[in-house]
Amino acid sequence: MFETHTIVELRKKLSVARAENKRVGFVPTMGYFHEGHLTLMREAKKRADVVVVSIFVNPTQFGPNEDLEKYPVDLKRDRAMAESVGVDILFTPSAGEIYPEGYATSVNVEGIADVLCGRSRPGHFSGVATVVAKLLNIVEPDVAVFGEKDWQQLAVVRRIAADLNIDSEILGVPTVREADGLAMSSRNTYLSAGERKAALVLAKSLRIAQEMVDKNIRETAEVERAMRDVIEAESLVEIEYLEFCDPQSLAGVAEIESDTLIAIAARVGKTRLIDNAVVRPG
Ligand code: AMP
Repeated sequence: MFETHTIVELRKKLSVARAENKRVGFVPTMGYFHEGHLTLMREAKKRADVVVVSIFVNPTQFGPNEDLEKYPVDLKRDRAMAESVGVDILFTPSAGEIYPEGYATSVNVEGIADVLCGRSRPGHFSGVATVVAKLLNIVEPDVAVFGEKDWQQLAVVRRIAADLNIDSEILGVPTVREADGLAMSSRNTYLSAGERKAALVLAKSLRIAQEMVDKNIRETAEVERAMRDVIEAESLVEIEYLEFCDPQSLAGVAEIESDTLIAIAARVGKTRLIDNAVVRPG
């Protein structure tokens, strides 16, 4: 596996691959890999000859009181995990490489970036959109792979790719979960044993929602009440939002008449977790 910190070296390597007509796949990450990240890399590997993975803890997507300083890092472990699934190029830029002296541009997505996490994390999606646009311009992949775990982020990425004429296929991959249902996240490492157990109510409430929809319950208010009852029974978990939306536009819905995204953000102790599911009426 080739590893570089610089855009110049990365581009040099990629121009050789392209001259050989190789397809390039790309997985942008913030590192501290788990099985979710590895699944994205394997999907990229299936669809491309050369897979690039970036590790960049993007400072502009963290708010002033968020976990930028303590975000988990283990480059040695990440390197070995990436290598184990056949990643070809690891791109590990510094903040100065991505945002050099004089840097002044940001990408803002309207509408879909303003709801859900956009409300509680002002500026977050502008940071995400900016760094993803830059990374897609640097790598110019044939296919870029993202997780549905961050559903709204995936919607924002699809929007910028369409709006900014970025010529990469954007592929979404279903959320990878632990055996007990907890959505994998680098942030799960912040959880104590008790919090880890309490956090299971998020996935559980989403399963209950699908069961209710399977029983022909269509009122989101009724499903929401049942979900909140399950989650609020755990004193360690505090809901930030629990919303029912159109999976594409993210506009709120009152009746589950077609595929509906249920998106949750919650604090488990001090840790902020998100989870979601698309429920399908039979
Ligand atoms: P992160 O390193 O958390 O920024 O995530 C990098 C990529 O991995 C993003 O596209 C995430 O949506 C994706 N990802 C994170 N957790 C999961 C998961 N549990 N299942 C699938 N994809 C995930």
